[in-house]
Amino acid sequence: MRSLNDTLAQLLEHAEGCGLPAGESVPLYSALGKVLAHAVHSPLDVPAYDNSQMDGYAGVAVEMNNALEPMLVSQRIPAGHAGDPLTPGTVARIFTGAPIPAGANAVIMQEQAVVDEAGRVRFTEPATPGQNIRPRAGDLKGGQLILDRGVRLKPADLALCASVGLDRVSIRRPLTVAVFSSGDELRQPGESLAHGQIYDSNRPMILAMVAELGLRVLDMGCLPDQLEVTKTQLAKASESADVILTCGGVSVGEEDHIKAAIASLGTLALWKVAMKPGKPFAFGTVGSATFMGMPGNPVAAWVTFALLVRPYLLARMGADACSPRRLRVPAAFDWTAPDSRQEFLRGRLNEHGAAVPHGRQNSGVLSSVTESEGLIEIPASTPVRAGEFVGFIPYTFLL
Ligand code: AMP
Ligand code: MG
Repeated sequence: MRSLNDTLAQLLEHAEGCGLPAGESVPLYSALGKVLAHAVHSPLDVPAYDNSQMDGYAGVAVEMNNALEPMLVSQRIPAGHAGDPLTPGTVARIFTGAPIPAGANAVIMQEQAVVDEAGRVRFTEPATPGQNIRPRAGDLKGGQLILDRGVRLKPADLALCASVGLDRVSIRRPLTVAVFSSGDELRQPGESLAHGQIYDSNRPMILAMVAELGLRVLDMGCLPDQLEVTKTQLAKASESADVILTCGGVSVGEEDHIKAAIASLGTLALWKVAMKPGKPFAFGTVGSATFMGMPGNPVAAWVTFALLVRPYLLARMGADACSPRRLRVPAAFDWTAPDSRQEFLRGRLNEHGAAVPHGRQNSGVLSSVTESEGLIEIPASTPVRAGEFVGFIPYTFLL
């Protein structure tokens, strides 16, 4: 059996050899969750001019501090208006976001100002130069790198592009991923179940996980446990998909036909990965498409997607963060009889930030995933005592 790390390294190396999808320019809003194909530099300074951080009065600090009489308010500058150069010895009424008039070097907030009947103003607090002014280029300098290629665009990234005036960005064309489930026992949600049948829960899950990565999904349905049909369907998928994903049917049982179908259509490597849940994982090619076969047990399918398929798909897209990051947290439990495979327990963090495993760790129990918030990593053949540190992958790190 090979380790998860070795398996992942081999997958990432394969992904690198495939080359990146072409870039295409799309409107900002449709780039959400997509991978940036080119670095973005700011075409301008942000802010583009010194502006007020407060509603108040702009003036020269030394004049405002030393005025013997209330000062004349010589102009009013709302946000969006340019204003005039400051008349010496006066102040300007100014509002948040409005440009600082030439000559002024400080803003006193309106709460520290007293206006008399004549409309003149005196201040209850002194000013220091630069006070309450957001300086030009204080956030970004013109020409500065603001987003690097490989970033998966989040809402704030789109806002950053918008803040420098960009209405389009260049993203990688999303891969097309075909998804099959397999097994004669499977019925679709909404259908009725006969004895011995179960609902197909993996396919909606895998379709959703692929879609969450910003990729194009093709729902290819459920394969029967028959070699010829399986071959025809996989060959058909390979005509339109970059990657084909299946679940189930990759063990070594007589009813596991996916393995045989891939071997006769293309190339196949069946790997036993030293992870629990997980273990059987198939990788190969059908025509020009890459094939990845996940186990059928729902939790095993979920974990192999998270730790092998997801990093591979992101690497194919040129994303910068492919493998999920792990936190190091103390264990709130003892794990005295570790497996010889690396284990991934479903669990959560308690109020002290320590990892607590879910009560049911059987790989068929999907509720262990929905009722937990992360994967607790137990190294192979290594007992863990409460208080020792373990890896923890929050599910939010898998988005
Ligand atoms: P297999 O690898 O095909 O032998 O499947 C292993 C276990 O996972 C069996 O108990 C299957 O019934 C179950 N299974 C396989 N595919 C699915 C699926 N799409 N949804 C739910 N359970 C599945
Ligand atoms: Mg099966």
